[in-house]
Amino acid sequence: MTDSQHRRMIILGSGPAGYTAAVYAARAALNPMLLQGMQPGGQLSITTDVENYPGFAEAIQGPWLMDQMKAQAENVGTEMVFDHVASVDLDNRPFTLKCESGAEWTCDTLVICTGAQAKWLGLDSEEEFRGFGVSACATCDGFFFRDREVAVVGGGNTAVEEALYLTNHASKVYLIHRRDSLRCEKILENRLLSNPKIETIWDTEVQTVNGTSGFPKEVQGLTLHNRKTGAVDDLKIDGLFVAIGHEPATAIFNDAGLTMDGGYLVTAADSTKTNIPGVFAAGDVTDHIYRQAVTAAGMGCMAALEVEKYLAALEVGETPEWRAAA
Ligand code: NAP
Repeated sequence: MTDSQHRRMIILGSGPAGYTAAVYAARAALNPMLLQGMQPGGQLSITTDVENYPGFAEAIQGPWLMDQMKAQAENVGTEMVFDHVASVDLDNRPFTLKCESGAEWTCDTLVICTGAQAKWLGLDSEEEFRGFGVSACATCDGFFFRDREVAVVGGGNTAVEEALYLTNHASKVYLIHRRDSLRCEKILENRLLSNPKIETIWDTEVQTVNGTSGFPKEVQGLTLHNRKTGAVDDLKIDGLFVAIGHEPATAIFNDAGLTMDGGYLVTAADSTKTNIPGVFAAGDVTDHIYRQAVTAAGMGCMAALEVEKYLAALEVGETPEWRAAA
């Protein structure tokens, strides 16, 4: 039988939310342990230029920013463990985490910062140009397409919002949707259809992303396939934004008793508390709206402050409200 080791606070996930929770918790002498998970550094570790994280006058590289956050968390005393959690037991206290390595941890508080992944079309050419003209975040990368032509794929709220946002930068925005009707709110649809910079391309899917092969790689266009007519056409564009939804990384919590909505962990209003007292969630795993590094970091800070209060109450023998918070 595996011997489990106990920690007062375990943070799951190594994106901006996890590292910020770790910095605040370590500085509050909570001795946090951070389990780094599948993609250390989170989504920023696969991003190139970052221009919207406060504090840096010039563009910085996503992986560098995450290295800095990790170093900062370590420097103030966070214990880093590289392992993947395979299963959790949140029904009994302390909570138990079983890792793929065979290690087993128990903890009084758990902060879940496992993030979310953008869904991609699954094309080899999309993968090839990711970070070089193919993006899943208009807020992050739209600025790089000033006065250029871009396309957005998708027909939901995100795709339409991204297309509208991109008109602030791009000279022309194509919205490419696989059907002939959108699934977004009517008000957004009206704004989209009345925007002179946006052209919708219906019943169409992207077959390939085309571009230069040298370095730096550049997107030059798309090959499109019309699902109704079968026609295949090329479209000249400089950037592609894929907005077909996100997948929160919550599969290991499916049977853990946490309240979820569309796969996202539900937290109480203005809080990172989940419905299980002692379990907190921060960052994209609980946020399908903002999805920014800075908002994730802010939530990580909130989680650490809430953990501190929770542990302080436990230590003086107060019974925390072990009842649904969300
Ligand atoms: P979504 O509502 O699931 O829409 C995804 C879109 O991508 C759909 O139009 C879908 O097409 C299309 N799609 C999916 N897979 C595709 C593929 N392989 N190839 C081509 N197209 C594909 O996702 P979302 O827009 O990210 O929104 C997620 C949730 O957040 C929704 O509940 C949304 O309402 C919410 N949200 C709200 C706001 C807001 O309130 N302002 C803003 C953003 C998001 P089909 O239509 O054919 O299925």
